[in-house]
Amino acid sequence: MKVLNLQCSHGHGFEGWFASNEAFETQLAGGLVECPMCGGKEVTKMLSAPRLNLGAGKEAPAPEQAQQQDRHDAAQQHGRWLRAVRELMASTEDVGDRFADEARKIHYGEVKERGIRGQATREESAALAEEGIAVMQVALPAALKETLQ
Ligand SMILES: [Zn+2]
Repeated sequence: MKVLNLQCSHGHGFEGWFASNEAFETQLAGGLVECPMCGGKEVTKMLSAPRLNLGAGKEAPAPEQAQQQDRHDAAQQHGRWLRAVRELMASTEDVGDRFADEARKIHYGEVKERGIRGQATREESAALAEEGIAVMQVALPAALKETLQ
């Protein structure tokens, strides 16, 4: 079994379980892989070495906004998400505002592939996207920001 980190064209991240990489490619080509949140079928595999842009995007909605009966689930989900973000933080190098430059260097093989995190402006993000350089937008909750460096 292989657990793949997947993302749809709307930026929803989710996990997919497949027998192998080939099984994933086959199912994807057959339109059998879809986003559990929006049903989107434009699904891409996320990079093993993540590039996190922490500079753009809005705060994630607080779990308090969830319906009463969903509150427990939402809090649990929020907790899982926080853990996942912390793990990503631990596995990436903070390159600060050199993020766009570093992501480009990694993409073009000028430096060794590694996970990075940092800030890119809206313009830099747009330029990266135009060059086909995939980066993840991560909106950090304020609580987590304070515990980072
Ligand atoms: Zn989606």
